[in-house]
Amino acid sequence: MSLPDIDTAALVALERRYRPCDLETLTGRSRSKWHKTLTQIQTSVRRARSNDGIAAVHAIANLFETLVLETNVENLPEDVEGGYERRAISQSKQILQSLLRVCEHDELDIDDPLTEIEQAFEGVRVPAPKQYHANRIRIIGLEDTLMADCSALYVLGATEENLPGHQSRPRYFQQIADAAGVLPADRHQELARYRFGTIVSNADSVHITTPEETMDGEQILPSALVEELARTATVTRTDGLADERRGSCEDVQRAIAGSTPDELEDLLEGPPATDSFTPAQIESCHTGAECASNRANPGPSVHDGRLPSNKLDEMSDRLTKQPYSPSRLNTYAQCGFKYYLRNGFELEEPDDESADAGRFAIGDVVHDALERFYTELTAETTGGVDLTAYDETDLHQRLYAAGEQAVTDSDESFRSPFDRQQLAALFAGLVPPEDNQFFLGTDEGDDASTGLFVEFLRREQGDGDWQPQFFEQWFDGEAGPIQTPDGTELPISGLIDRIDLDTDTPAAARVLDYKTYNADTNDAIKGVDFQLLTYTFGAQRFLESELGDPPQRVEAGYRIVKPPTTVTHKQSLPKTIESNLEIPTEQFFRTVAPRRLTEITEAIETGTFSPAIVGEETAKCQYCAFSDVCDVRHHQRFEAIEAIDEQELPVYVPDGTRSGDLTDHLEVTADE
Ligand code: SF4
Repeated sequence: MSLPDIDTAALVALERRYRPCDLETLTGRSRSKWHKTLTQIQTSVRRARSNDGIAAVHAIANLFETLVLETNVENLPEDVEGGYERRAISQSKQILQSLLRVCEHDELDIDDPLTEIEQAFEGVRVPAPKQYHANRIRIIGLEDTLMADCSALYVLGATEENLPGHQSRPRYFQQIADAAGVLPADRHQELARYRFGTIVSNADSVHITTPEETMDGEQILPSALVEELARTATVTRTDGLADERRGSCEDVQRAIAGSTPDELEDLLEGPPATDSFTPAQIESCHTGAECASNRANPGPSVHDGRLPSNKLDEMSDRLTKQPYSPSRLNTYAQCGFKYYLRNGFELEEPDDESADAGRFAIGDVVHDALERFYTELTAETTGGVDLTAYDETDLHQRLYAAGEQAVTDSDESFRSPFDRQQLAALFAGLVPPEDNQFFLGTDEGDDASTGLFVEFLRREQGDGDWQPQFFEQWFDGEAGPIQTPDGTELPISGLIDRIDLDTDTPAAARVLDYKTYNADTNDAIKGVDFQLLTYTFGAQRFLESELGDPPQRVEAGYRIVKPPTTVTHKQSLPKTIESNLEIPTEQFFRTVAPRRLTEITEAIETGTFSPAIVGEETAKCQYCAFSDVCDVRHHQRFEAIEAIDEQELPVYVPDGTRSGDLTDHLEVTADE
C-alpha cells in the first residue's frame, strides 16, 4: 500500500534497521516530509487507546482515512480483483458505526473501549470473493476451508498424523481427562474437526485417501475424523488406485486397455467419449484396440507380420526376390520378422563395437586362404587334389603363402593384440618363426604343433579316398533351378565352399562347408537350417552338368575350422538323418526336404513374417539387432503353432520346433 508523501519501501527499511521500532522512533529518524502522515497515524493510535469510547472509535476511523485504504484498494494492480479488500473496509466501517452507537448510549458504561473494539472485530470473517473456479483445481489447507465449496473434494493422506494435524495433548491423556472431566477439550482438535466437517459438507463428492503404510513399510493409522465420518455417513471403501475415479490421459488408456474392439466400440461411440476425444484420437483408440486384441491372440494376424497382398507388392521384390540364398531361408526359418526388417527395409544391423576385427574377419581369412591354397593345387592337376603326392614342407609353405595373401587382401588391419594373437594361432608352425610374419615370440599360439592351418592339413591328409576337386562353386541356376528328387524345381542359389569326389567310388561326392564356429547338423534335420540341404541338391545339379553324370550319393557336412586350433569334421547330413530319424535318408530327401522348401518359399511369397515361433534360443533373440522393436511372445509359441495348423495358415513351421518327437512331424507315410 502507499501512504501520502511516504516512500513505503524506505519506511519498511527504516523499521527493519531500528528494531524494535515504534512510531516515535520512526518519526524521529524519517525524512521530514513523512512527518505529517506519521504524526497523524501516531495521534490516531494514541486516541484509540483513550478511555473515551467515542473518541477511540473516531480515532480508528481517522486511521482508515490517514492510511487512505479505499484509494489504495482502487489502485490495486489490474490482476488483483480487490473485492475481498473492499468488503473488508466496508464491513469494518459498519462495525465502527455500530460501536459508535453503543458508545453513545449513556447507560452502557464501557471501561476499556479498545478491548471492546478488539472483541467486536474478532471472529468477523470477510466473505471470500466469488471467484471463477470452474474446471480448475484449488489446493487449500484446513485453515481456508470455511468458505470453500467445490464439486469434487479430494482429501489426500487423511492420516492420524496429518488430520487434524499435530495434537497438543496425547490422545490417551485426553480420553482419561474427558472421562474424569478434568481437562478442557483440546481446542486445536475441535477446530480442525469443525473445519474438516465444513469443507466435507460443502462438497458435492468427497474422495479421501488413507495410505496404509509409509515408504519404509511402517503402518499408518487413518485419521479419527475419517473413522467418525464412516460412522455418520455413507462411505464407500475402495482398495487401490484401480477402483478410483481418474481423469488423466494415462487413466483413459488404462481404462480402455484390454477392451476388445467390440467393447471399445460401445465405450467410444457415446457422447462422453465424443465430447472428450477428437475423431483422430477415437480412430487411434480403435486401431490400438484391434492391435492389442490381435497381439493377445497367438494366431498370426496383420499385427504379427502378415502383410496384405497390396503391402507385399509395395515392398517391390525385396522380400521375394529370387533366387533365394540358403542364408536368407535360414533367417526366415528362424524368424520371419527379422527377415522382413533385414530384407524388406534393408536395415543395417550395427556391428559389434570392438577394437578387434572379430571372428567374421578371421573366418574370412580362413576361407580365403583355403580357397587360394586348393585353387593353386587344382591348377596343377586334371582331377582332384591328392595331398599325399606333395612334400609336407611344400604344402605348409603354399598354405602359408595363401594365408598371407588373404590377410593382405582383407579390409581389416588386424592390429589389435587379440587379432594378432588369432593370426599367430592360425599360422603357427607352417613355416619357421623367422619366416613367419605373424610369429609373436613366446606366445602360446606360436606352438608349432597347435597352429590351425597345420592341424587342417593333418586332418585333410587323413581323408582317405576323398579328393577335393571344386572350390567356391556357385549353383545359381545357370544349370537350371535346383531340383529335388521328387522333381520339384526351386529358385535357390548358393556358393559351395568345396566339393570332393571319392576316387574309389566315383558316383559319390562330398560337399564341405567350412565353419569357423560350432555349426550343428541337427539344425538341418529340424528344419531351421537349409544350407546342407540346398547344397546337396545344388551339388547334384552342378555335378550333373559338370561331369555329365549325376553322382549316386552326395554327402554334405560341416568342416569346423575354428581358431585357435580346432579342426573337426561333423557327421554328414545323410548320416545324421540315419542316426536321428526313424525314416530312411532317401525318403527324407524325396519327401520331407521338398515339402519344407516349398512351404518356406510359399510362406515368404504369401507375405507371412511373424516374429520367431521357434523359441528364443533357436532364433538367437539375444543377439538380434531388432529386439527393441520386436514384440515377440515366446511363451505363446506352441499356441501360435496350433492356431497356424488349425487355420491352415501359410506359415512355415520348422518340424523340429514343434513339441514332441521330430519324426512324428515329418508327414511321411509308410507308403512313401
Ligand atoms: S528379437 Fe527374436 S523374434 Fe524378435 S526380430 Fe529378433 S530374432 Fe525375431
